Amino acid sequence: MAPAITADFPDTNFLSNNPPSKDSKQDDFLDLRNVAWAHSQEPANNFISDFYTKPTLPMLEAIVRTTLGDGDNDEDTTTNSLQDYVSGLLGHEAALLVPTGTMGNQVALRTALGSPPHSILVDYRGHIMHYEGGGPSGICGTLTRTVVPSNGHHITLSDVQKFATVRRTMYDCPTTVIALENPMEGRILPISDVRAISTWARVQDPPIHMHLDGARLWEAVTAGACTLAEIGPYFDSLQVCFTKGLGAPIGSMVIGSKTFIERAKWARKMMGGGMRASGVVAAPARVAIEQTMFGGKLKKAQEKARRATDLWVELGGKLLDPTETNMVWLDVPGSGLNEERFYSLAEQEYDLRLGGVMPYRLVFHYQITEEAVDRLCALFKRVFGERS
Ligand SMILES: *Cc1c(COP(=O)(O)O)cnc(C)c1O
Repeated sequence: MAPAITADFPDTNFLSNNPPSKDSKQDDFLDLRNVAWAHSQEPANNFISDFYTKPTLPMLEAIVRTTLGDGDNDEDTTTNSLQDYVSGLLGHEAALLVPTGTMGNQVALRTALGSPPHSILVDYRGHIMHYEGGGPSGICGTLTRTVVPSNGHHITLSDVQKFATVRRTMYDCPTTVIALENPMEGRILPISDVRAISTWARVQDPPIHMHLDGARLWEAVTAGACTLAEIGPYFDSLQVCFTKGLGAPIGSMVIGSKTFIERAKWARKMMGGGMRASGVVAAPARVAIEQTMFGGKLKKAQEKARRATDLWVELGGKLLDPTETNMVWLDVPGSGLNEERFYSLAEQEYDLRLGGVMPYRLVFHYQITEEAVDRLCALFKRVFGERS
């Protein structure tokens, strides 16, 4: 058996149980120094999103060693084992591997909604609302009711009670699903609010389905907001991503009861998300959970976010939102800085990738290096120095 790879960097021999013999051509030998998987530090300076994390060689090794059963028919051991593992972590009975977080949310919604009339309640800033191509209307044919949290930070029970439709006259479109998100763009939804909303939803007649878009739930857990086992049971379905900060190449999971997941398979099938040799997706996802999440790498990334925040504030900078997980929301104009100068200095003199569709957001992930954070801090000092 070849030696296991544990580092992010190549053990260049791992696929070379049979090193090239004198007469085999050099081409037969896979030189791992040249494969993209060996360069997981490539996004070292990229603060635009944690979806820039690169899969690692241990993930490639997991793919090489995976089983190749049919995932669509529950015949793949690696996939089944990952589904059991993740549902277990969240205190649920079953789970379903899907290619993306968007599909995970839509599969869960489609499964929970049943026949119309139905509506879902979401935070007005929610991913389901803005970044899923209109899935709730296009795929689920549902009415979306958006909640503007009165505290400006996260949804509370009183917001839900204000916006939910529980009356059932023929004019009403009842709230069938409450879809929460935690964390939402770095903001943590406190477990006490989750509990209050869930308790209320479950005593309605009929009970309102609780769904969690937990694409980055790992970050909230890492920040100490709750444990996976604590938060899972407050929801009837959850969606978690293995990409983003965890760094797997592909994959998300829908979690729920056995009955729910049985039904969710139809929704996944309908959306074209049933996968054949799904071990290829499940194997590196498992490595992502075990090495990135439970290996303490998210925690280290969050510490870097804290360090950058502290310096920014110390220099007199303002934040659009407090730093609670791996995201830092800089109020660049509000801090009296010249925006154009800030971004051009970042790119041209400090070799930093900032900006993107959410220009004020810095996302810290585990492949951002200490050196890049040092340069970010130097940039902060420079721009505040120029301001005064
Ligand atoms: C990224 C993300 C998703 C969707 O994941 P994709 O794999 O990009 O489809 C869903 N919800 C939240 C909160 C996300 O951040």
